[in-house]
Amino acid sequence: MVGVKLAEEQATLVLTDLNAEVVARHAVALATQEPEAVAARLAGGIDELLRSTHVDRSRLLGVGVGLAGIVDAAAGVCRLSPFNGWRDVPFAEMLERHVDYPVYLDNDVNTLTLVERLYGAGQQVDDFLVVTVGRGIGLGIVANGQVYRGARGGGGEFGHTVVDPEGPLCTCGNRGCLETFAAEPWLVQHARLNGLEVATPDALVAAAQAGNRVALDVFRRGGQILGRSMASLVNLFNPTMVIVSGEGVRAGDFMFGPMAEALRQHLFGPLADDFETRVEPLGDDAWARGAASLALRQIFHAPELEAQPARAWRALRSAQGAAS
Ligand SMILES: [Zn+2]
Repeated sequence: MVGVKLAEEQATLVLTDLNAEVVARHAVALATQEPEAVAARLAGGIDELLRSTHVDRSRLLGVGVGLAGIVDAAAGVCRLSPFNGWRDVPFAEMLERHVDYPVYLDNDVNTLTLVERLYGAGQQVDDFLVVTVGRGIGLGIVANGQVYRGARGGGGEFGHTVVDPEGPLCTCGNRGCLETFAAEPWLVQHARLNGLEVATPDALVAAAQAGNRVALDVFRRGGQILGRSMASLVNLFNPTMVIVSGEGVRAGDFMFGPMAEALRQHLFGPLADDFETRVEPLGDDAWARGAASLALRQIFHAPELEAQPARAWRALRSAQGAAS
């Protein structure tokens, strides 16, 4: 399988085996966001990946692509991706024309959630949530063993739930979304507004490690707001587990200590008893691996597709019935 994590300026490609273990990786710089150009560039990257590993094209079974935004996974269409400005882009089909293999498209947080479900901590539990903290704040939902996507693939826009209607103006056009308090670029911005000259999340973490009061306050406040919002999620979904991951996990206890505390504090009593939070560091490989498992899932018919083999079986049976 090939898995692709598509970001604005670059794509991470991985080649995986049937256990979604990464065999090789390749990064591709993207000079433009124009969908056809991105498809052509990815196709070139896939060729390079196969060449460098001497894997014959005929052994490739499929390509999975994960990207931020609202994705109609069944149709392979990106409905809306604010980061790269796409609207109603049939990207799976575009890439298929270049690579000649089935291409599966999904929201990147859903791909990560699928990896947890198929290979990670979510194998043993039927109800869990994945919260990603990084450039934005994402949410993957597994309910009754299935990834829940909502009516139009837009389920899980946790980052754009309102914390303070008078808060900062968000990229989505509303004010005071959760992201504007707890996503990494906003943490950096809050630090700068309070007089700490940092340019990157890493620099902010370094400042906190050095005991800088502004950095510590920014992470604590971000963590508390995130924890309160997560308590609402837990109260709504009653999951067995919440997995927190993404680049933002680098803030460690500076942010996720206060998050865990606020989360516990705002839980509806009995829900706190049988519930666990895990903070897991993840890199681009994990995201791309998730994208690869989009393709793997089609082959192994994981539980979320149970309906499909059943339909095929019924069709076969009725065809046999008609023949006899
Ligand atoms: Zn927003």
